[in-house]
Amino acid sequence: MCGIVGYIGHRKAYPIVLNGLKRLEYRGYDSAGIAIYDGKELKFSKTKGKVVDLEKKLEAEISTEGTIAIGHTRWATHGVPNDINSHPHFSNSGDLVIIHNGIIENYEPLKQELKNRGYSFQSDTDTEVLVNLIEDVKKKEKVKLGKAVQIALNQTIGAYAIAVFDRKKPNEIVVARLGSPLAIGVGENEYFIASDASPFLEYTKNAIYLEDGEMAVVRTHKDMKVRKIHDDSLVDPYVQELQMNLEQIEKGGYDHFMLKEIYEQPDAIRDTFRGRMLADQGIIKMAGIDDHIDKFINAKRILIVACGTSWHAGLVAEYVFEELARVPVEVEYASEFRYRNPVIDKEDVLIAISQSGETADTMAAIKLAKESGAFVFGVCNVVGSSISRETHAGAYTHAGPEIGVASTKAFTTQITVLTLIALQLAKKKGKISTSDFYTYLRELDSIPEKVAEALTSNEHIEKIAAIYKDAKNCLYLGRGFNFPVALEGALKLKEISYIHAEGYPAAEMKHGPIALIDEQMPVVVIATKKGHYEKVVSNIQEIKSRSGKIIGIVTKGDVDVKNLADHVIEVPETIELMTPLLTTIPLQLLSYHIAVMLDKNVDQPRNLAKSVTVE
Ligand code: GLU
Repeated sequence: MCGIVGYIGHRKAYPIVLNGLKRLEYRGYDSAGIAIYDGKELKFSKTKGKVVDLEKKLEAEISTEGTIAIGHTRWATHGVPNDINSHPHFSNSGDLVIIHNGIIENYEPLKQELKNRGYSFQSDTDTEVLVNLIEDVKKKEKVKLGKAVQIALNQTIGAYAIAVFDRKKPNEIVVARLGSPLAIGVGENEYFIASDASPFLEYTKNAIYLEDGEMAVVRTHKDMKVRKIHDDSLVDPYVQELQMNLEQIEKGGYDHFMLKEIYEQPDAIRDTFRGRMLADQGIIKMAGIDDHIDKFINAKRILIVACGTSWHAGLVAEYVFEELARVPVEVEYASEFRYRNPVIDKEDVLIAISQSGETADTMAAIKLAKESGAFVFGVCNVVGSSISRETHAGAYTHAGPEIGVASTKAFTTQITVLTLIALQLAKKKGKISTSDFYTYLRELDSIPEKVAEALTSNEHIEKIAAIYKDAKNCLYLGRGFNFPVALEGALKLKEISYIHAEGYPAAEMKHGPIALIDEQMPVVVIATKKGHYEKVVSNIQEIKSRSGKIIGIVTKGDVDVKNLADHVIEVPETIELMTPLLTTIPLQLLSYHIAVMLDKNVDQPRNLAKSVTVE
């Protein structure tokens, strides 16, 4: 995920693009760049770091004159964040310049083909491949830029929002989108291009949001035509009048980043397996695993180290790995692991999980494991982060930036990536039949849709939140795969609403927490079908006998828990080991609404920070 901005018209383009990038920085902030045509030459500046770093560098390096410019703030997916990998990218001739948000999944074969045809590449990005593919098509087919972009895009697989122009014809910008957002602001003889409308709100309220699979050539003094990329048919664009204010737009119309990120989960999970899982063909391809599969197959045990929400994702992974790949797994708090004297065998595989990839304790645990000769694998969201560099191999979650301090999409995408790894390992170890493998892949493929369905309970959950918002304590219970979800649900409530909450394995309740239950105590019980359902129903009876208030998270169509509980929230049915991906959704929403009703700072709860870089 990243932010893209462009301008073509009669105004000075640089300040528009620069300020636009600042507004889009929430979408990615590991590097930034701008290209401007100053009337004679194409000038550019790009750098690792934030937009303010770019501003300093650019203004010292180049003139900022010119009425056409494009800019990018990056969230790296291919190649670490550095100056060279930053956008814009250029074609070999230096004529074409592009900015891109998204992932070109088949960039490797395309790159190889272009290399065979004499092209060379400076960066590790998929984007540089795309701009050279466009140039190659343009030369080969002798077509205009718009047509070349169209032909090239029809050869790609993946997701994109792009803006590209030719320094030899600096009166037009070609834009296209598939899977990544792109808005066009329409002014008087001027156009604004951006990932959302925030960069151009003060200039025009008229916006066209391109639909997936559409492209346009924007030219000054000419009407814009929108076409379908795949068949060239013309589309009548709908010009919307924007009603929103700036802040609303950055948050995509949501009141808080946390809520936006909760709602992003269907897409985020899809992005996590995009290009890695071909469900219909029964294939998982993950270089980080496939290149080191022997280490995993021969592992005596897998050690998982993490902190906070990532530690909960690790606990889910423990259950999943043991179930599928039949390998012993231990999950450790990184902070404990590093300071005791852990026994680490060189045949252990250590998986370190961290959204930011900067968590200090997890980093220290990695160093310890490396000293003992273990193979260390990272699961991070931030590309090029310290942990991703320190580990022997790894897999990114590709969830996009998570701004809300309370982790939501990071959790579900971590579980997704770890499930993919467990499935691949199970297959390579011969622990899973081909037909079961297919079944799991197809089910994982359907999870984004099921998460979207789980999100439709939002209003119902809001009503439940209103009833329990003044509770002083809350218990969360779950068994099996959903025990870690109970821990995660309790953590979410604690961190954003400051209500004391505890997560427990449901059966442990009798060994202590049951003493806390009275009519004041809300108890959230995850009671999906299959996962020891009858046992959980008995636990619910026990709570009921002590007048506790029960909020059941149940499988769609459930009857038994519905008869016992004060409230139920349904989630779609899925394979048991994938239920955490669904049951966690209502718990996130419940915490969110309670915190909002209590007027807490949802995105920046007190005393917390997004990335814990101190011990
Ligand atoms: N795939 C491109 C890159 O890694 C674009 C990523 C983005 O959307 O920021 O540079």
